[in-house]
Amino acid sequence: MKALVYTDTLEVQYRDEPDPVPGPGEALVKIEAVGICGSDMHAYHGHDARRIPPLILGHEAVGVVQNGAQQGKRVVLNPLMTCGTCDHCQGGRSNLCAERELVGMRLAGAFAQYIAIPERNLLDMPQDMDPVIASLAEPAATSLHAIYLAEKVLHRPLSECRALVLGGGSIGAFAALMLKGKGCVDVYLGDTNPLRRHTAEELGCCNVYDPLGDDLPEENSFDLVIDAVGSGRTRSASCSFVKSGGVISHVGLQDNEPGLDTRRITLEEITFLGNYTYSAVDLRAAIKALYRGALGALDWVETRLLSDGAAAFREIHEGKAAAPKIVLRP
Ligand SMILES: [Zn+2]
Ligand SMILES: [Zn+2]
Repeated sequence: MKALVYTDTLEVQYRDEPDPVPGPGEALVKIEAVGICGSDMHAYHGHDARRIPPLILGHEAVGVVQNGAQQGKRVVLNPLMTCGTCDHCQGGRSNLCAERELVGMRLAGAFAQYIAIPERNLLDMPQDMDPVIASLAEPAATSLHAIYLAEKVLHRPLSECRALVLGGGSIGAFAALMLKGKGCVDVYLGDTNPLRRHTAEELGCCNVYDPLGDDLPEENSFDLVIDAVGSGRTRSASCSFVKSGGVISHVGLQDNEPGLDTRRITLEEITFLGNYTYSAVDLRAAIKALYRGALGALDWVETRLLSDGAAAFREIHEGKAAAPKIVLRP
């Protein structure tokens, strides 16, 4: 089969790879669409010790089952493989399973024509759903999960809150759309990339600003800050923009630099909330929301051929990609 293989720092190659062979309990899935994630870019930059080249990356995928009971069915892949038996797995928090493995991390991912994956990681989807839209379920589920967790600890309903999203990638864009959908009074989004800012403006759901510019939102004014970047700089910005008693929802994993003002967090009773991925339930909710068009037109998603994937990685790396999400099709 053909696959897009991460071969070295700043290098992916479209080349021939052996066809995956499904083991017992595994399905062979012919990939229809697979999105490029920020975490794939993290690997591409050589910053992810868990993703070691040569490796087929990619985990935001949709395809057609080729074998077994579900043969011929179109499915969304749940890329998080978990034990299914620990307290977290059985308590609905499978994203915290100590045995968890993500497709495209140590195991071969979905930037390929085929992938072998446990059958219990196949999620139902409407059979007439556009595969590119369905492939957005994974980033959308990440945003949904973060907002669900934040809603549990916010002192007022979101419809009475001001919210700030840091980072205009797909998770940031989905978060802004969902917050607006939940009736947030004011939604702001900051991104340093002018192309991304332009796309965010077109979403029509938030006030967009340049974090490096002069026209910044007011400090100490947001009930909820969602950090979809996760760098020292954005953590520090989160601590200044969040209101006393507010919530910082930390989703991004860019670096581990200092930035948190733990003194302010303590004195002002600010909740710092870590968020990691999603549960299968979040993924199903995201598929439904995407299918019924609850997240808007989604015309900000760009589709390219998997064979042109290397150029897409390069453009994202160089900050030349305006689309918060590029989906590849084998
Ligand atoms: Zn992802
Ligand atoms: Zn488990």
